[in-house]
Amino acid sequence: MAKALKLAVIGRGLIGSAAARHLCKMGHDVALIGPTEPADYSRHSGVFGSHYDEGRITRVLDSHPFWRRANCAAISRYGEITAESGVDFYREVGVLHVGPCDNSDVASVGKVAAEAEILCEEYSDAALAERFPFLKSTTGARGYFEPRNAGYISPRRLVRAQTIAAQRAGSRLIDEPALQISESGSGVKIRTRSTTVEAERVLVAAGGHTPSLLGQSLGFKVYGRTRIPTSCRPSPIRTARRG
Ligand SMILES: Cc1cc2nc3c(=O)[nH]c(=O)nc-3n(C[C@H](O)[C@H](O)[C@H](O)COP(=O)(O)OP(=O)(O)OC[C@H]3O[C@@H](n4cnc5c(N)ncnc54)[C@H](O)[C@@H]3O)c2cc1C
Repeated sequence: MAKALKLAVIGRGLIGSAAARHLCKMGHDVALIGPTEPADYSRHSGVFGSHYDEGRITRVLDSHPFWRRANCAAISRYGEITAESGVDFYREVGVLHVGPCDNSDVASVGKVAAEAEILCEEYSDAALAERFPFLKSTTGARGYFEPRNAGYISPRRLVRAQTIAAQRAGSRLIDEPALQISESGSGVKIRTRSTTVEAERVLVAAGGHTPSLLGQSLGFKVYGRTRIPTSCRPSPIRTARRG
C-alpha cells in the first residue's frame, strides 16, 4: 500500500461518508467531520444537507456508458455496506421509465437497454395499466421496467451506514460543522466548535456549503430546477416502484 496519510473529510453526506469509508479501508488515518441531521428544522440555523429524507432512485440504466458502469459499481456494493454497518438502506423494487409512446426519450430507454443488455420489460397502454395498476392514465403511454439492480435507497440510512462502516474501519467522527480551514506548514488545520483537526490533506464534500467553507466559488451556478426538456415536450418519468 502507498504511504498512509492523515486525512480529514468535511461533510457527512452521501459523498463524504462514502469517501471516509473507502479512505479508512485503504489504510489512511481519517477524521470525518460533519453534523448529524438537525432534530428540529424550524429552530436550526446552521448547515444543511440534501440527504435528509427517505427516497433516492437508483438504477443501472443510463444513456452514458460511464454512468452505467458507475451505477453498476455502486449498486454492487450495497450488500457490502449493509454487512459492514448492520444498516439496511436499499429496496430492489425495480424502476419504471414511462412516458408518451411517441416521445423519443422514452424510445431511447428501450434502445439503450437493448444495446447495453440491461433486462427491461416493455409495456404499453392496457398492458402497462395491468402491470402497474397504480398508474392513473396509460393511454398512449409506454413503459420500460428495469426489475433488477434498481429501486430506491434511503439516503438518510445510507449516510448512517457509511458512517458506521467508516468508524468500524477506524475513522474518527467529529459530529460538528467545520468552521474554518487554514493552511499550515505541513497541511491543513480545520477548526470546529470543540476542537482543531490537523491533517495532511482535506477532502471538502459539504454539498452546497462547500464554496462558503472554501471561501471561493467552484464555478457552479446554484439554482432551483424543475426538469423541463428543451423541446418542452413531456419527459419520461422515472419512478421507483414500491413492492
Ligand atoms: C429532492 C432531491 C431528490 C434527489 N433525487 C435523487 C435520486 O433520485 N437519485 C440520485 O442519485 N440523486 C438524487 N438527488 C441528488 C443526491 O441526493 C445528491 O447528489 C447527494 O445527496 C449529494 O451528496 P453530497 O454528499 O454531495 O451532499 P449532501 O448530501 O448535501 O451532504 C453534504 C453534507 O455536508 C455537511 N456540511 C455542510 N457544511 C458543512 C461544514 N461546514 N462542515 C461540516 N459538514 C458540513 C452537511 O451537513 C451535509 O451532511 C436528489 C437530491 C434532492 C435534493
